[in-house]
Amino acid sequence: MPRPIQARISSRALTHNLEVARRHASQAHIWAVIKANAYGHGLARAAQALAAADGYAMLDFEEAIRLRAQGVDKPILLLEGFFKAQDVTLLAEYALTPVVHNIEQIEILEKTALSAPIDAYLKVNSGMNRLGFTVDNVRIAWNALHGHPQVRSVTLMTHFADADGASGVAAQLEWFNSLTQPMSAPRCLANSAALLRYPQSHADWVRPGIMLYGCSPFAEQSAADLGLKPAMTLASEIIGLQNLQPGEHVGYGFSFEATQEMTIGLVACGYADGYPRHAPTGTPVLVGGQRTRTVGRVSMDMLAVDISDLPEAYIGTPVTLWGEGLSADEVAAAAGTVSYELLCALAPRVPVVEV
Ligand SMILES: *Cc1c(COP(=O)(O)O)cnc(C)c1O
Repeated sequence: MPRPIQARISSRALTHNLEVARRHASQAHIWAVIKANAYGHGLARAAQALAAADGYAMLDFEEAIRLRAQGVDKPILLLEGFFKAQDVTLLAEYALTPVVHNIEQIEILEKTALSAPIDAYLKVNSGMNRLGFTVDNVRIAWNALHGHPQVRSVTLMTHFADADGASGVAAQLEWFNSLTQPMSAPRCLANSAALLRYPQSHADWVRPGIMLYGCSPFAEQSAADLGLKPAMTLASEIIGLQNLQPGEHVGYGFSFEATQEMTIGLVACGYADGYPRHAPTGTPVLVGGQRTRTVGRVSMDMLAVDISDLPEAYIGTPVTLWGEGLSADEVAAAAGTVSYELLCALAPRVPVVEV
């Protein structure tokens, strides 16, 4: 038998969450964002479960071409566009829609005869200062793309830095609108947070990611409250027990010290499986469906959980690290990160089963 850890992926949850996104999006078309191996859920599986989306958004040519090879004929948006001149021929060959966000890409496109017309996304930097053109060059980019004989359509795009936070989208939306006001083209702005919270940002296409996987983009609103279902459950089992006396310690660095008699379970899951090493003592975990806490430092292949109040817990008792019954958002918050990072970090060594 293999080590008892596994990741259970629910296609039904993915499909459900896309329906939730669809209800919020009303008329807007939906790019299902499946970058980073579909946030750890498996590219092909996620693409299939999210087949009701209008297109897929991702990063890698290699992954996009793999989807095409599997028969996917929906639009595919490459969120960072292309990186080298030799990539450009692949755009036409595989009907990929690049995000164009810098002047070098424009120069490459102007020099290249495409073998077939392509659709392009023009990325506007509306204040996040990550990728995109702003006031000094957005017109140049627009004219170059709009005037390219082999660019069939241009869509205007931006990305919000704080749609989930206190700043919201208003300032970026206003700046984007003023930068693009004279340009007649469809628009694509909203990530999950903007889709859920700011209908005025929906425009023609939306780009939800995290919500499709059943997590909340908001610190103060749970996925369950948003009607989302967790698509990934990371599960394992107890493989060892220790009884501790007051003053005894657990794990590397002796970082946890028992102040009273207690029992701990050792769980077959560590940071080499993708569990965050920085999760402190007290991070929530389910043992036999009961909520308890981790104790001590997370090791490469194991972590310890407090089972003092769970007399039924024994070798083989199931443990849920996150997912069904315990939101990855909550575990992430305890570990000082976001669910995105937990989901994406699921290690290749963890066997995946579909449920
Ligand atoms: C990742 C990403 C998204 C999806 O964001 P979520 O917060 O996961 O919904 C949308 N747009 C761009 C440009 C992205 O990089």
